[in-house]
Amino acid sequence: MTRIMDGNKVSQDIRGEIKEKTAQLKGKGIIPGLAVVLVGDDPASQIYVKRKENACHEVGFYSREYKIPAETHEKDLLNLIGVLNADQKIHGILVQLPLPSHINSSLIIEAIDPQKDVDGFHPVNVGRLLTGQPCQMACTPKGIMVLLERYGISLAGKEAVIVGRSNIVGKPLFLMLLAQNATVTVCHTKTKDLAEVTCRADILIAAAGKAEIVRGDMVREGAVVIDVGINRLDNGKLAGDVSFAEVSPHCAFITPVPGGVGPMTIAMLLHNTLKAAEAGLEA
Ligand code: NAP
Repeated sequence: MTRIMDGNKVSQDIRGEIKEKTAQLKGKGIIPGLAVVLVGDDPASQIYVKRKENACHEVGFYSREYKIPAETHEKDLLNLIGVLNADQKIHGILVQLPLPSHINSSLIIEAIDPQKDVDGFHPVNVGRLLTGQPCQMACTPKGIMVLLERYGISLAGKEAVIVGRSNIVGKPLFLMLLAQNATVTVCHTKTKDLAEVTCRADILIAAAGKAEIVRGDMVREGAVVIDVGINRLDNGKLAGDVSFAEVSPHCAFITPVPGGVGPMTIAMLLHNTLKAAEAGLEA
């Protein structure tokens, strides 16, 4: 029987755990603090930022939001990052992407103190992930790893296939799965026969950003299917990268969209911020 992997439930459990740890940390005089920087007024980004703020509030974090006009100069944003790096109340800095085209995103990410890089995008954290050192890990792939763990899905020796090789999902997920001894294949738009590769997967992760490209005949019987995609259809509804109707009858586990990977991403942002605050305690 197929099991639905309930990201809402698991993320709620994790938020509960973070809330408890936050209360303990407060007893030691530390309140985890997150600064969220939003440049411009992209509606989707505004929704994401609001969700992140609400989540911070729920677990007892201190949070500060900076809403900055789209025409802000790169150097002014860099100055703000410098101020937040030095701010003792702020343990995590999140700059909501995408940034307007006149701002170099890499430059902004590299300006963030790696310890405060709760998105795990700074090259120092990416390099540490690559070399197996402790680091801040990107929230979406980390959320997928935690979801797999909480559902008791072992990875050692398994064939894992990722569709998508972005810096924020596919590539870091590749490293995380490899570190857990899975045999990992990463597909992209130049992959010759996508279905041939996906059919090999014990664990299939779809992160292509293409509505329902993973069809029923592309998934092996009994596979674990993680759907990262969030695609807005013409009728306004959300769809994942996996055809849930076709795939769910013959896989062992599957994540829904919405309610699968999405809530885990926010839970991991909270986790990373708490971790940064705890690191301050050790320093
Ligand atoms: P992205 O930067 O656009 O990368 C998409 C990747 O998928 C690229 O590597 C691309 O290959 C590959 N791809 C696209 N079409 C393909 C196809 N037909 N066959 C094989 N590979 C294909 O996207 P992203 O930022 O990683 O996001 C992917 C999806 O996840 C989006 O729907 C996004 O909204 C969603 N997402 C969800 C969360 C969450 O919290 N749930 C977080 C982040 C992203 P090339 O490299 O060859 O172009």
